[in-house]
Amino acid sequence: MLGLMQDRPMMISSILSFAAQYHGDVEIVSVTADNPRHRYGYADAHKRACKLANALQRYGVKLGDRIATLAWNDYRHFELYFGVSGIGAVLHTVNPRLFADQLSYIFNHAEDRLLFIDPQFIPLVEQLGTQWKSIERVVVLAPADKMPETSVDGLISYEEFISAESEGFDWPEFDERTASSLCYTSGTTGNPKGVLFSHRSTVLHTLTVAAASNMAIMPHDNFLPVVPMFHANAWGTPYITPTAGSKMVFPGAHLDGARLYALLEEEKVTMSAGVPTVWLGLLNYVKEQGIGFNHLQRVLIGGAAAPGAMIDSFEKDYGVTVNHAWGMTEMSPVGTIGNIKRGHADKPQEEILALKRSQGHAFWGCDLKIVDDQGNRLPEDGETTGDLYVKGYFITSGYYNNPDATSEAFDKDGWFQTGDVASIDKDGYLRITDRSKDVIKSGGEWISSIDLENLAVGHPDVAEAAVIGRPHHKWDERPLLIILPHDQDNPPSKESILSFMEGKIAKWWMPDDVAYVSEIPHTATGKIQKTELRKTFADFKFS
Ligand code: AMP
Repeated sequence: MLGLMQDRPMMISSILSFAAQYHGDVEIVSVTADNPRHRYGYADAHKRACKLANALQRYGVKLGDRIATLAWNDYRHFELYFGVSGIGAVLHTVNPRLFADQLSYIFNHAEDRLLFIDPQFIPLVEQLGTQWKSIERVVVLAPADKMPETSVDGLISYEEFISAESEGFDWPEFDERTASSLCYTSGTTGNPKGVLFSHRSTVLHTLTVAAASNMAIMPHDNFLPVVPMFHANAWGTPYITPTAGSKMVFPGAHLDGARLYALLEEEKVTMSAGVPTVWLGLLNYVKEQGIGFNHLQRVLIGGAAAPGAMIDSFEKDYGVTVNHAWGMTEMSPVGTIGNIKRGHADKPQEEILALKRSQGHAFWGCDLKIVDDQGNRLPEDGETTGDLYVKGYFITSGYYNNPDATSEAFDKDGWFQTGDVASIDKDGYLRITDRSKDVIKSGGEWISSIDLENLAVGHPDVAEAAVIGRPHHKWDERPLLIILPHDQDNPPSKESILSFMEGKIAKWWMPDDVAYVSEIPHTATGKIQKTELRKTFADFKFS
C-alpha cells in the first residue's frame, strides 16, 4: 500500500522561490570585477534568475542541455545556479585553474552549448576557444559597458542577455531525478570525470547538511563561501544558505589573507567554508598583524586534511569553532562533519580537540564502511584502517558518459569506492589516514602521510609540509618529509623538526629524511599535488 502523501518532485528552483518569499530582504553581497561591493536581496536574486530562465528559453535551451560557467563566487554565478537548473538544463561549473588540455577535454566531453564567463577568463577563450567544439555562444558576466577588449567574436554581456526579459517565471516541475548540475573531478591520472547531480540529490544534500546537528547554518549567520562555486557546487552552500535565510557574502576572485580578512570584518561574517591552504594564508596574516576576529565564529574546513595545529589555533588563539568536514565531489560533496556529539561535550578540552581533528562524524543520509583488500567489512573501533566506501541518498551512481571509470568505482553491492583510507570509531568519527595511492608501505605496514604532515606543520617554523614514500632497500618505502619553511633564509634544521615530531608518533613512522622546497604544488582545488612532488623527488635516495 502506498502512503497518501503529496508526491511533489524536489526542485532546486523551490529553494530560491522560498528564500525570495520569506527572506526577500536578506542581503547577498558580492565582490565582482565590475563592482567592489554589489548588494541586493534574495527577492532581487529571484527576479534576475527568472529573467535568466526566460532568456535561456528564448535562446532555445532545452531540458538536459549543458550550460557551462568559468566564474568566481558572485551573485551572477548564484543566479545561474537557479536559472539554469530551474528550467531543467544542467549547470556545468568548470574550474578555470585546470590545465588547458583538461579544460578543452571537459568542454568537449560535456558538450556544453553556452559558456558564461567572468571577464578575466576571456584570455582562455582567446587561447583555447577554437578547440571547444560545442560552445555556440559566450556570455560575459559583466554589464554591457564593462565588456573586455578581445578578438573573440560574438560575445554578449550577461546584463544585455537578460535585460529585456520578464521578472516573472513559472518554474516547471519535472522528474526530480533530472540532472541539475555537472562537475568534473580531476584524479591524479587520466582525464577528469563528470559527476552529474540531480535535483533530488541536491535537495536531499541541502536538507541534511543544513541540519542543526551538521552545518547548523542559522538566520543570524553571515556566511562567506571561500570554496569556489566550481568546486563541488561550493560544497552545496549556495543551496543551503537560502533555506536558512542567512546573509551570503560572495568573495569574488581575490582570496589572499589580507583581502579575505578585510571582507570578513567589513561584512561581519560569522561563518565561512574553505580548504586548509586558504586558512593557512588567513591565520598567517592575522598572526603577523597581531589582530583577531571581531565577528567570525565558525569555519568549515574540508577538501584536504586540516592540520591539528590549524584547528587548535582557530579554537584556542582566536575563539573560532572549527568544523572539520570530509567529502568528495562524488558525494555532493559533504560526507562527514565535525561536531561534538552527545556524550562528548563534557570531556576535557584536549579530548574535544582530538575529536575535532578527526574528519567529523557520520550523519544520516551517507553510510560509511571500511573494508580490507578482499572487500570484507572491518571493525569500526577507531583503530583499524581500511579502504573507505560510501552509499547514500546523494552519492554518485556513475560517471557521466564514462563506463570505464564507472565500472571501477563500485563494489558488487553498489558502494562507491572513495580511494581514501580511514578508520571509523564506534560513534562514527572518521579519521582519514591517506589517499590509498599516497599511503606509505613500509615493511608491509602502512604509514599515514597525512598524520606526518599534520604533525610537522605544528613546528613553529614550518609553513607547509608534504610526505611522500620513496623506495628503500630494506623496507620497500620510507617517508620523506618535504618542508616549506616560513622563512626561506632561515629554515628550521632537520634535527629541530625531527625532535619536534619525536615521541608524538610511533618510532618507525619517523621520516627518514627532510627536504626543503620554496613551493609546495597544489591541485586546482587546493590539495597537495603529490604526483608532482614524486616527479621532483624521483631521483631522491635515502642515504
Ligand atoms: P574533491 O572531490 O576535489 O572534493 O576531493 C575529494 C578528496 O579530497 C577526498 O577523497 C579526500 O582524499 C580529500 N579530502 C576531502 N576532505 C578531506 C579532509 N577533511 N581530510 C582529508 N582529506 C580530505
